[in-house]
Order: sequence, then structure tokens, then C-alpha cells
Amino acid sequence: MSKILSLTLSPENAAFDDSINNHICKELNSSDIEPSQWKILKKSIDARKKEVKIQLRIEIFEKEIKEKLKIEKHYKDVSNSEEVIIIGSGPAGLFAALTLLERGKKPIIFERGKDVRSRRRDIAAINKNHIVNPESNYCFGEGGAGTYSDGKLYTRSKKRGSIIDILETLVFHGAKEDILIEAQPHIGTNKLPKIIANIRETILSHGGEIHFDTKVVDFIIESNTIKGVVLQNNDKVLAKNTILATGHSARDIFKLLDKKSIEIKNKPFAMGIRIEHPQGLIDQIQYSCSERGPYLPPASYKLVTQTNNRGVYSFCMCPGGFIVPAATNSGEIVVNGMSPSKRDSVFSNSGIVVEVKEEDLTPYEKYGELKGLFYQMALEKSMCKITPVLQVAPAQRMVDFINRKISNKLNKTSYQPGILSQPLHEILPESIAHSLSNSFKVFGKKMKGYLTNEANIIGLESRTSSPLSIPRDNETLQHIRIKKLYPCGEGAGYAGGIVSAAIDGKKVAEKI
Ligand SMILES: Cc1cc2nc3c(=O)[nH]c(=O)nc-3n(C[C@H](O)[C@H](O)[C@H](O)COP(=O)(O)OP(=O)(O)OC[C@H]3O[C@@H](n4cnc5c(N)ncnc54)[C@H](O)[C@@H]3O)c2cc1C
Repeated sequence: MSKILSLTLSPENAAFDDSINNHICKELNSSDIEPSQWKILKKSIDARKKEVKIQLRIEIFEKEIKEKLKIEKHYKDVSNSEEVIIIGSGPAGLFAALTLLERGKKPIIFERGKDVRSRRRDIAAINKNHIVNPESNYCFGEGGAGTYSDGKLYTRSKKRGSIIDILETLVFHGAKEDILIEAQPHIGTNKLPKIIANIRETILSHGGEIHFDTKVVDFIIESNTIKGVVLQNNDKVLAKNTILATGHSARDIFKLLDKKSIEIKNKPFAMGIRIEHPQGLIDQIQYSCSERGPYLPPASYKLVTQTNNRGVYSFCMCPGGFIVPAATNSGEIVVNGMSPSKRDSVFSNSGIVVEVKEEDLTPYEKYGELKGLFYQMALEKSMCKITPVLQVAPAQRMVDFINRKISNKLNKTSYQPGILSQPLHEILPESIAHSLSNSFKVFGKKMKGYLTNEANIIGLESRTSSPLSIPRDNETLQHIRIKKLYPCGEGAGYAGGIVSAAIDGKKVAEKI
């Protein structure tokens, strides 16, 4: 028999088992409860009032619990089982592979990029030398866009059971158990590569295959059924089922699908900028304090508004993080954000993006369903044209942007390739610039102090979600026309983040 108790404590009291235990004893009017008798089920921060509180949901047992957590996974040896091709080793591809191992099928993963360790060198080259390797970068390589990401694991998905399963699988492969109880779980970019490498080890040791530096360049299709794929060295690989999990930056795959008249669909997406404030300022605003102190994590925020008939919202907020160059080709500038597990940088960043409307795409109509993709590409290129050094990003101070004034000085930034003062209010399309400007004023009212020249805005945040979807049958999850082809994850339009991509990969693998 166990009892559930909810406690609201100060950050300091919630930081130590002994003080939590004292509060449990007080609450239950008992003096003989030990820390070994309870476990925290959920932990969240309540910063709505002036005094910030930590809310804990705790399960208390009558006796000592020997193992507070035991996660078991049952992966089968699939060395001689039926093969399933998986294109892409992002969260969708990897979780599809793990699910196939559980169900006794052999995953054969083709990944255009490198393993996590070799990929690190290419990422350093983007930051230091401004060289973008089109096959190995922040988006491409083992673990996909999820590896050198922030590792925030919150999702809008309501599928509680599936979310827990993904989180437990990550813990099984080395993530800290905290992610199971935190209301806003986060792994951190420094911890993710090891977890991804452990997942690789599980796949290989159970008989699956992973081929790095191996790009899929064509599909083998007969009688509206996919029979296999063609690799860049012209090798052909056949299998009964193919999972397409190439993410939203694999533009060559979208173009290939379009060329082969395999149905794809233009879909709503959003673009904007990344904004960077001093973390101390965000802490002060969110925690109503002059200093955060040692017991609270760096504060985050979530902002949303509607202006000029467009949704504008914050996206992928990274407290104590860095802005990173996430382009997949030279000649384009794309920024994104990440943070290490401790979130200890002095900066806070977040994407602020504006809904793209059909009317914005009128000049791109000739590209058919690819029109959103071409609009996205044009904007990324326009950012690059104006800076003399590749990957140096255009930037402006926040109030200057609203006042349509070039910044004569920029604030310090975490963006390693560097920033250059540019009139973003002119460079961005008016639809985006105007909506951003209006929404900054609204956000400044919602969060007093947010609208400030202490913040830089940096262009371009363009890869928040896929501009395309690859339609599939709701029941079979196969492509609506091409049988045995399972589009999944973010690139296919069924996910928006690590956890939802992983859930979708699992779902298609279960269907197979
Ligand atoms: C810097 C950054 C930070 C982020 N932070 C977060 C975060 O904190 N939380 C969160 O939830 N999400 C975050 N995201 C988004 C998240 O990473 C993606 O939503 C998620 O990775 C999508 O998973 P996926 O498997 O669908 O695709 P991807 O992760 O994009 O994986 C696709 C894979 O397919 C490979 N591929 C593409 N084309 C081919 C081909 N032709 N042949 C072979 N392989 C191919 C690619 O190399 C890639 O590895 C971040 C993204 C970035 C870039």
C-alpha cells in the first residue's frame, strides 16, 4: 500500500531529502518515515506568485523501497530476422529501430552523416571556420537534429504512456532519472551524444545495422510499392518495408519525392528570429527577484500572441544556453538554440517565430507543393548575402528593431561565428518584421523588462517545423499511394521535437 502526497516547498527545502522528509513527517503526523520510503513522482516550479515555490508529488510506502526505479527493456536478437530499411538516424529513426528490436525485426539504418564523435569535428568547423559540411552538421548525423540540440523533452503530445516509454528508454540508455519526474525534463547537449552512442550499441549488439556516411539518393518503386533504396555509391538495397525518417532539413529528399511524383503537401510553418537576453534579466523577471540563488534553475518563458492576423510565439526556449549555426549548406544562415545540462551560460535565447501565410507564398507558386520550402530557402539565403563572412549572422538590438533603427552597437552574444549589425527590420519580409515588432511590444507588457535593448535579435530562425508533409494513410501509416513506405517524424510532418519524433518512429515500427 502506498500514499500520494502533494507538498509545496521553498526551493531550498525542496533541494534536500532530509528537509523533504521532515515535511512529509509533519504532513502525515508521523516521526518514523525515512527517505528510503518515498519517491518523487513529479516536480514543478510555481513562479506565479512573488515567492517562487516548488511543487512535489510524492509516493510514500509503508516499508523501505529497495529499488526506487527499475527499467527493463527486452530487445531480441534480430541477426537473422526480416530486414526493415530505416532512412535517417534521428529520434524517429532510432526509436523505430529500438521498437523493431523489441518486436523481432532487423533494422538497417542508413544515415548520410557521421557518428556522434566524428560529427563533433564538423560542428566545430562550422563555429570556428564557418565551413558547413552538407552531410554532417547540427542537423545531419547520428541522432539527427536531436543530438547537438538542447535535449528539452517536453512535448505537446498528450499520449502519457508513449511519453513515459520514450523517457524510460532514454534513462535505460544513460539519461538521468530526473527526466522522469521533472515537469520540464531536459538532458543537455553535453550528455546527449553518449546516450545516442548507447542506443547505437543496443541496436548493433542485437543484430541491427547502422551505416554512417551513407546517403539514400533514390527509391526503388514497382507497382506503387517501395521495394528498396539506392545509395549514393549506386548500391541497391531491397527490403519489404522502408521507414522514411529524414527530418525537415533533407531538402534533397523532398525534391526527390516531388520529382518522382510521390505525393507531398505544402503545410503551415513559421519563421522569425532568435532573441538573446542576459539570463540574469530573465531570472529577475520570472522569479521576481534580484538574484536567482542556488536552488532555482535558470528561468524560462513561453510567449504567444496574435498580431496582424498571424500567430507569433516563442519556440525552443533555451535558458542558460547558446545560439548555434544550424545551416545544412553554405550560402544560408539558420540559427537555433541549445543548452548544456547545467544551463550555466549567462545567456537565455528563444526563437520568436511568425506564422507563414498562403499569401506570402504567392511568388513561389511555380514550385507547386515545394513553394513553402523555396520561400524558406530564399530567406535563409537573404541572411547570408548581407554578411561578408559566411555564418556571421545579421543582428539588431531589440528596441532598435522596433524603432527601425540600425544598431550602432550590439550586445555580447553566445553565437560563436559572430554577429554583424544589420537592419533586420528591412531585410526580413515586412509580414514577419511587422508582426515581430508588434508582438515584442505585447511581450514587453506580459513580461516587464523583456522589451529591452539589452537583447539582440539574430536572423534567421527558419527550421522550426517542416514546410511539407508526406501524407500517409491514417490506418496503415503507409504513404497514401506508395505501399510499404512509412514516412515518419518531423520531416514527414508528424512531429515537432525530439519526443514526438521518437513517438512517431515507434508508432510506424509497431505498425510494421
Ligand atoms: C540546434 C537544435 C536544437 C534543438 N533543440 C530541441 C530541443 O531542445 N527539444 C526538442 O524536442 N527538439 C529540439 N530540436 C528539434 C529536434 O531535434 C527535431 O524535432 C528532431 O530531431 C526531429 O527528429 P527526426 O528523427 O524526425 O528528424 P532528424 O532529427 O532531423 O533526423 C533526420 C536524420 O535523417 C538523416 N538523413 C536525411 N536525409 C538522408 C538521406 N537522404 N539518407 C540518409 N540519411 C538521411 C539526417 O542526417 C538526420 O540524421 C532542436 C533542433 C536543433 C537543430
